Amino acid sequence: MNCPRCGNLIDPVQHGDLVFDGQVWCQGCHHYDERLLELRPFPELENWAQLICGAFGQEPVRLLHDEAFLPDPAKYWHGATFLLAEACHGSRGIMLHPPGHRLTTLCHELAHLFTGQDHTENWARACAALIAWVKARL
Ligand SMILES: [Zn+2]
Ligand SMILES: [Zn+2]
Repeated sequence: MNCPRCGNLIDPVQHGDLVFDGQVWCQGCHHYDERLLELRPFPELENWAQLICGAFGQEPVRLLHDEAFLPDPAKYWHGATFLLAEACHGSRGIMLHPPGHRLTTLCHELAHLFTGQDHTENWARACAALIAWVKARL
């Protein structure tokens, strides 16, 4: 797929270098609204997850978090990047780790559950649609 502004080829697998907002952009061409990147309280994210599932005609998902354990930042550090979250397709659950308590991470994982796909073009477009929907309602 290509960035809608500069036309450069973009690879959804390199999602950390992309901006998902309506469409999928390269980092040079678009940035996130800062409110999408803020860390938010878990109950607020649960509420957003419900709203998003309802709006997109999806069965509810279960959000999980592990803040009950002692926070250990090293646990989430995987070489070069923090592990923010994991989607569990079988149980339709999303584990949000503390560094991932933000709307962009929630939408990223919801898009995996909604599409049933890894970092594909389909997934990328779904993620961009979810984030644009949320941004319009902040
Ligand atoms: Zn671009
Ligand atoms: Zn992912």
